[in-house]
Amino acid sequence: MPPACLFCRIISGELPSAQVYADESIVAIRDISPQAPTHLLLIPRKHIPSVNEVGPADKDLIGKMCAVAAKMAMRHGVAEDGYRLVVNVGRNGGQTVEHLHIHMLGGRPMAWPPG
Ligand code: AMP
Ligand code: ZN
Repeated sequence: MPPACLFCRIISGELPSAQVYADESIVAIRDISPQAPTHLLLIPRKHIPSVNEVGPADKDLIGKMCAVAAKMAMRHGVAEDGYRLVVNVGRNGGQTVEHLHIHMLGGRPMAWPPG
């Protein structure tokens, strides 16, 4: 775990967050700068910098992150109307925190194409 990684520090409890879910491999928190009425971040406890570094050993973890996203959507009341899952990768993808995470955005209609 890189000591300077923001999400590693949040997961370890060193930095505060509004946590809405946690299990042995995944933590979900509210985004500090929400872009929709519901904006959660699903973060693996394992430090993986981005999708580019996801390997075969992470197969189950990635599947579980999708399952937790669906569970969070149900729990936060956005499953029926729909929501958007976003994974930004690298500079062009708009990634600002280099620890893999899925954005879960819901509670309003989403535009397409994205900006
Ligand atoms: P990305 O730009 O895809 O890497 O997403 C990083 C997200 O982390 C952004 O939506 C930020 O608003 C969010 N963020 C940054 N710092 C914090 C924090 N301390 N607690 C919760 N969310 C944060
Ligand atoms: Zn990290």
